[in-house]
Amino acid sequence: MQKKPMPPAKSILIATGNAHKTEEISAILGTEYSVEDLAGKKFPKVAETGTTFLENATLKAVEISKLTEQWVLSDDSGLEVDALHGEPGVYSSRYAGEEGNDSANNAKLLDELSKLPADTSRTARFRCVIVIAKNGERLAHFSGAVEGKIIQQRHGEGGFGYDPLFMPDGFNQTFAQLTAEQKNTLSHRSRALELAQPWIAENV
Ligand code: IMP
Repeated sequence: MQKKPMPPAKSILIATGNAHKTEEISAILGTEYSVEDLAGKKFPKVAETGTTFLENATLKAVEISKLTEQWVLSDDSGLEVDALHGEPGVYSSRYAGEEGNDSANNAKLLDELSKLPADTSRTARFRCVIVIAKNGERLAHFSGAVEGKIIQQRHGEGGFGYDPLFMPDGFNQTFAQLTAEQKNTLSHRSRALELAQPWIAENV
């Protein structure tokens, strides 16, 4: 018997140059979707001038979707630490000054927390907002969060960003110690994408 031909994968452009994000989004969405990002392509850098994850995710998805026929999905995400009044928040990727320097960002986070009394709560959450846009229009947005705490020193080699310092509630390992599959079942990104998936399946 002849095998049924596979339907072509639905193509989505992720409005990021962050390969870690793309890898996670691709793994979470699954093989039905063909995912590519901006790396190596001639798109301008969109300035993240918003003060909320939704504003920045919207800027990225809408501006990039004006320049392509493709469906565009953006992810704006970050870490909110309660004792630091929600910082680094939308500034997570540039907390220590230089965009995307994970090591410096982690060092600054530990430094800021070390200035607080030793018994200060270290509760925190990762938050992610996903925006889907086409032809310069925002068509949908979804958000997800995962609660946890910031530990005293980095543990683990996996993931990216603040993963070595973030221990999700119910686990005694950081996101950087969990496998990619484990992180992808409980992360803020997977929770936002879980909500996005029915919309994507119906509309993309
Ligand atoms: P964005 O690219 O402006 O959305 O900034 C995202 C930043 O938030 C990253 O550079 C990381 O510092 C942090 N971040 C977001 N998601 C994660 C995650 O899954 N693990 C660790 N850090 C994350």
